[in-house]
Amino acid sequence: MYRFFVDESQIGKQEIAITGSDVNHIRNVLRMKPGERVTVSDGKKADYCCRIREVGSQTVIADILETEEAGGELPARIHLFQGLPKSDKMELIIQKAVELGVCQVIPTVTKRTVVKLDKKKEETKIRRWNSIAESAAKQSGRGRIPQVTEVMTLRQALASAKDFDVKVIPFEHARGMEETTRQLERIRPGMDVGIFIGPEGGFEDEEIFLAESEGVTPVSLGKRILRTETAGLMILSVIGYLLETRG
Ligand code: SAM
Repeated sequence: MYRFFVDESQIGKQEIAITGSDVNHIRNVLRMKPGERVTVSDGKKADYCCRIREVGSQTVIADILETEEAGGELPARIHLFQGLPKSDKMELIIQKAVELGVCQVIPTVTKRTVVKLDKKKEETKIRRWNSIAESAAKQSGRGRIPQVTEVMTLRQALASAKDFDVKVIPFEHARGMEETTRQLERIRPGMDVGIFIGPEGGFEDEEIFLAESEGVTPVSLGKRILRTETAGLMILSVIGYLLETRG
């Protein structure tokens, strides 16, 4: 069933008013008719199973048939601080991270970041990355649309994560999986978790020391060197598995 996201203000007692670009999608792309069913999410906690009543030029009215708790969310909020990668790898990372349950993706500039984005380019990229996040959220049945924030420096990223409950920086020179297990086993529902992934060239040692001084733990992701676009997805998968199996 197709999924659409609305603001809470569009949700009434018995009906929901879908507006904006979704109206064109429903009318002219999906060519949906009154009587057909859709899932509408308020982007926070609830999914509404609805039946389309009216397809107008600006608004689609859907009657609420049943309401259930948004199912597509992990019970902890995972924030991926992704070292800005080259070319369009970020699009793949965002799409897959959203499918895997990430709550927020923060593009992060580090010493070995090759990509240089001026303000204009950054704004264009952020808009594109958020639209990828929205499509991935719809496709994967998320209860909310994860946000791709503005680009941060590593220092800004560390500051924004200062009150998080668990913070790890995967570092290919970290030894053994004991610390990785220890950190990931600490994650519990309701927590905020920060994951810091370096760009293609990795982190400088001084960046690892800086992160450690801010309470972020270097962890190994195993004996192989993972590409920047693989590393974040790997640890997200493990965290998602632990949270979904532990409940
Ligand atoms: N400097 C690395 C090298 O030797 O080629 C490349 C860095 S890797 C492409 C990019 C990022 O993925 C790293 O900064 C780290 O965050 C993460 N990463 C990759 N493999 C890892 C591993 N085995 N353990 C921990 N982190 C890893």
